[in-house]
Amino acid sequence: MHPVARQLLAVKQDLPSNVKLVAVSKTQPPETIMVAYQTGQRIFGENKAQEIITKAPVLPQDIEWHFIGHLQTNKVKAIIPFVNFIHSIDSMKLLEEVNKQASVVGRKVQCLLQFHIASEDSKYGLTIEEAETILTSRNYKDMQNVVIAGVMGMATLTSDEDLIASEFRMLKGIFDHLQSTYFAEISDFCEISMGMSDDYPLAIREGATMIRVGSRIFFAD
Ligand SMILES: *Cc1c(COP(=O)(O)O)cnc(C)c1O
Repeated sequence: MHPVARQLLAVKQDLPSNVKLVAVSKTQPPETIMVAYQTGQRIFGENKAQEIITKAPVLPQDIEWHFIGHLQTNKVKAIIPFVNFIHSIDSMKLLEEVNKQASVVGRKVQCLLQFHIASEDSKYGLTIEEAETILTSRNYKDMQNVVIAGVMGMATLTSDEDLIASEFRMLKGIFDHLQSTYFAEISDFCEISMGMSDDYPLAIREGATMIRVGSRIFFAD
């Protein structure tokens, strides 16, 4: 069996049925992505606009592409025809641009609000106040082409499992607060995207509904 197929199946084997796997295929060529596809994987994540634009058109149409990296407003237009999900909404300006470009091509794009949960200050993300400003704004309420489907966060790069767990718990807390305050009657808001190759079992224990796993699938162990 191809190592990518074997590693993919190993990750999927112990996933609870309510947790979706985003196979992070950044830097991987289409042929390698096809190995995962033929093993049954349909959700792939990319973090660079240029990669999604070159790979999506040459791969099967039933792949669900998730954009997971920092997204510049001026790249939105180019990726919108290909993406189903954007995990990295970190400003009102970005959400507005996604809505605008999605309306141009007649799509509805699922969006996650990215929060800064790591103790490193290099990572992007909203504060709760910024998120609430978006969710209570007239502008947001008028948007027809985006769905706010949940939250996303990245934990600190550390081997300190207690710290990582507390950061995941913080994101779950933010999700619960926003869910009960702004989406009580709306089932769209249901996803918590957290956990990567080194910390996804911890993320699942803390309530992740989507994990983003790259190296554990695509690099030899
Ligand atoms: C690369 C990346 C991942 C996957 O990281 P691995 O450690 O390779 O599993 C997840 N999320 C984001 C935002 C990434 O850029």
